[in-house]
Amino acid sequence: MVEEQTEVLFPKAVIDRRVRELAGEITRDYAGREILIVGVLKGAFVFMADLIRGLGIPCSVDFVRLASYGDGSVSSGHVRITKDLETPIEGRDVLIVEDIVDTGITLSRLVEVLRGRRPASLRVCVFLDKWARRQVPFAADYVGFTISDVFVVGYGLDFNEKYRFLPDVCLLRDIA
Ligand code: 5GP
Repeated sequence: MVEEQTEVLFPKAVIDRRVRELAGEITRDYAGREILIVGVLKGAFVFMADLIRGLGIPCSVDFVRLASYGDGSVSSGHVRITKDLETPIEGRDVLIVEDIVDTGITLSRLVEVLRGRRPASLRVCVFLDKWARRQVPFAADYVGFTISDVFVVGYGLDFNEKYRFLPDVCLLRDIA
């Protein structure tokens, strides 16, 4: 049987500091405006909860959930919305908040769909960026940390629904 072992990559204190910095940057960039934060379920919910509590500007929140056809671990290129926004976004300043950008397929598709709804502005904030694995060109406007080609869990991120509760971001390793 294969079990997994975790090893801390970013401890909670380091995450907290970086999330406060990102919230400060967003607050400065959107000064005087009211943003709609769109969280991508499920992985982004912990990051989003911390991020909005660091903002010094008013925001409302909504969520989308996406599914990609394929084996579940690799984006297949076919992304569909399984839970859509409940808020019209036309004319709004929208900030998508996502856990990880990996191949870029999921976020580039979501941006394309939301852009079609004519928001006043649309930006993307990701907690983690695996830039070396990009298959389609995609650059987030705000990035928490850049990581290499490793699989991480914790701070909302799962492996088969496990580990989301961990306060630290951890590397996941298989052990026989
Ligand atoms: P992509 O950018 O390839 O379309 O997909 C990004 C999605 O793949 C993320 O939102 C996340 O759900 C999943 N993902 C990619 N890398 C990791 C990882 O290291 N850990 C976890 N838990 N999910 C990942």
